[in-house]
Amino acid sequence: MLVSAKEMLNKAKAGKYAVGQFNINNLEWTKAILLTAQENNSPVILGVSEGAGKYMCGYNTVVGMVNGMLETLKITVPVALHLDHGSYEGALACIDAGFSSIMFDGSHYPIEENIEKTKELIRIAGEKGISVEAEVGAIGGEEDGVVGGGEVADPAECKMIADLGVDMLAAGIGNIHGKYPANWTGLNFDVLAKIQELTGTMPLVLHGGTGIPADMIKTAISLGVSKINVNTECQLAFAAATREYVEAGKDLQGKGFDPRKLLAPGFEAIKATVKEKMELFGSIDKA
Ligand SMILES: [Zn+2]
Repeated sequence: MLVSAKEMLNKAKAGKYAVGQFNINNLEWTKAILLTAQENNSPVILGVSEGAGKYMCGYNTVVGMVNGMLETLKITVPVALHLDHGSYEGALACIDAGFSSIMFDGSHYPIEENIEKTKELIRIAGEKGISVEAEVGAIGGEEDGVVGGGEVADPAECKMIADLGVDMLAAGIGNIHGKYPANWTGLNFDVLAKIQELTGTMPLVLHGGTGIPADMIKTAISLGVSKINVNTECQLAFAAATREYVEAGKDLQGKGFDPRKLLAPGFEAIKATVKEKMELFGSIDKA
């Protein structure tokens, strides 16, 4: 059964480790992540962006697929199904469809409007025991062009949003979605420490987990980050393994064209990437 992300993240915050959010795109992705979590006795958060939700034929399809797998694969570790960077309407749709966690990304609204909409969603989600992630200040991304410093949140605004009663808070600390530019200046630990000081026991979320050096990840966890989002890294691993299979001509040998064979190396590559991240984040055997 899906669970809210609240309890697993509060445990992570207290235990000074982080739970990975791994975004899913299809059946192979979902199965690879769930099996890896179970094999390593780790809690896990499955992230679904609105785009990926559309691609997978809507939130009902996603909920049906994930719940089916939890049962058939006998998954007993805590699993949350979480909307990633949701709009207000998207968050409501996921609450209806049976997600156990949502992120409302109101970071592009003025802070007052972000607060208003976040409050409303906390109320609606709270009635169903669904956890809520909010975001303060845009996190940098490739769509914003190459910005070496990334986006940095205002700690006072973080405190305002945290006080609304969200379960986890994403705040820009120089992190960037997608691949990091060569001139990236690194995570801003001064700002992270300040946010942590003001928000106390609130689990903090680090977006854009792909390509942040391991030592910076560890420092971020020690400063209160309890959830780390990984998306691009699994995509790169899947693509590289699939390319290798095709370039070796394996799809032309015997029944190598069978999708169950063609997609197997990519599936294994996702599993290896997820396990590596769980080791780095410290979530193994924390289920
Ligand atoms: Zn993000």
